[in-house]
Amino acid sequence: METFSTRVTNYHMHNCIDFDKIIEINSGGSGVIYKYECKCCKITKVLKCLRDGTQIQNFNSEVEILRIVQGHPNIITFYGVTEDPSNGHYFMILQYVDKDLRDYLKENFKNLQFVDKFRMAEEIAQGLWFLHTKNIVHGDLNSKNILVYNSQIKIIDFGMSKQINKVSTPLCSEIKGMPAYIDPQCFKDLKYDKKSDIFSLGVILWEVSGGQPPFKLLTSPAIFWNMQVLNEFREIPAENTPLQYIKLYKNCWDKDPSIRPEMSLIIKTLNELKNSSIFNV
Ligand SMILES: [Zn+2]
Repeated sequence: METFSTRVTNYHMHNCIDFDKIIEINSGGSGVIYKYECKCCKITKVLKCLRDGTQIQNFNSEVEILRIVQGHPNIITFYGVTEDPSNGHYFMILQYVDKDLRDYLKENFKNLQFVDKFRMAEEIAQGLWFLHTKNIVHGDLNSKNILVYNSQIKIIDFGMSKQINKVSTPLCSEIKGMPAYIDPQCFKDLKYDKKSDIFSLGVILWEVSGGQPPFKLLTSPAIFWNMQVLNEFREIPAENTPLQYIKLYKNCWDKDPSIRPEMSLIIKTLNELKNSSIFNV
């Protein structure tokens, strides 16, 4: 059986972990997240471990993907891994950013101009495009998995991400994540691919333009099945949104994946919108 120690030579070990205390900042379904301020470099970093130390496959897969997607300004920085001496389990060490897109919009929305919204939308799309060029699907894109660091977008959480090759499509073993962002196609046949990420992006583009989370009163997957899959129900455009932007996100969240645009076209459109809105603030 594969253990953490048999993998150790494949890990990039990070040794800049000199701290007095760590603070738990999140305890989600897949693991626990802590932060610490490193005494030697004064940088605040995140330690992420999986809830169950035996989930080594998941840990390895996430670390592998983090390594592949490094070097893009809109993807979180991954420093490496370290070992917990008390039990031999490993932690991922990542850049710490204190605000996610959902909270950022809640606090700053009234001060944002369309040029700001289009810039953020374009950065999210740039990060996602980078993943797709590496043949990686994110699999869980939503406004809690996108952080805002000094106004710059950083995509995080590759726990459900998969590298796709030519012959197979990854399966969602079960529906996880936030239902409002999940491709209805994924509810139907339990498969996701790049076009599923583009559906999620469409929902996020709507959220950036309106400042509200999608379907915020509804959380049950059963209701989403009914609304999005059976009745093709979608959110309503926010007032004063440019028509070209509405058309873009509606195409992204179309029930038919073949209608959803390619990432290159999405970025081109967002870039045009951003440039044209500079003079219309
Ligand atoms: Zn340090």
